[in-house]
Amino acid sequence: MDIKANLEAVKKTFINPDCLLVAVSKTKPLADLKEAYACGIRDFGENKVQEIQAKQPEMPEDTRWHMIGHLQSNKVKYIAPFVHLIHGVDSFKLLKEINKQGKKIDRIIPVLLQIHIAEEESKFGFDAKEIQEMIQDPEFTALTHVSVQGLMGMATFTEDENQIRKEFKSLKSLFENLKKETLPAFVEMKELSMGMSGDYLIAQEEGSTMVRIGSAIFGSRG
Ligand SMILES: *Cc1c(COP(=O)(O)O)cnc(C)c1O
Repeated sequence: MDIKANLEAVKKTFINPDCLLVAVSKTKPLADLKEAYACGIRDFGENKVQEIQAKQPEMPEDTRWHMIGHLQSNKVKYIAPFVHLIHGVDSFKLLKEINKQGKKIDRIIPVLLQIHIAEEESKFGFDAKEIQEMIQDPEFTALTHVSVQGLMGMATFTEDENQIRKEFKSLKSLFENLKKETLPAFVEMKELSMGMSGDYLIAQEEGSTMVRIGSAIFGSRG
């Protein structure tokens, strides 16, 4: 795998050069992360707490760790001290646990709320109604140690571009609608994490501010 060439090829196709590239390094060895780091990548995406914990001490201090997968509440404490952004907050329970762990170590933890946009049942996340219910809950308004920076979503795994585009459009529209609402100060709708190796160009066309790209950089995960 020529990681440098892959990174250049991916970057060259970006429709929005300001869109943040999160290099998804899950299952990949440290040598691959170091190679990407040497090419200027600072943002790395991992989806397993154990793996992120193992890699974090081995990488330079200024590496930014993105937790992109489903996160179990009982594991939040292990990444709370250093995680840069938790993309996959898919329940109020998890958000409250992140707040609790942040409070313990006196750190405000940046998160994105994961929205269920795909057709598949298996994908995690809130729907629009659940988001509304949560943000109106007094327990939500009282959170002190999380910073909600936007939304994250994953499109259906399909070849059908229209389907993918429709799902990204629905996420973008929810994002824009939330922006117009009166929200607590710790909620800022500024980041929209959507797009992976197979659909990041559509995602950028539809307004993504960060893409999570793994296989197009590091090769398939077998
Ligand atoms: C694995 C993963 C990605 C990256 O997928 P690729 O298709 O390899 O680019 C992006 N987002 C999430 C949530 C993932 O789990």
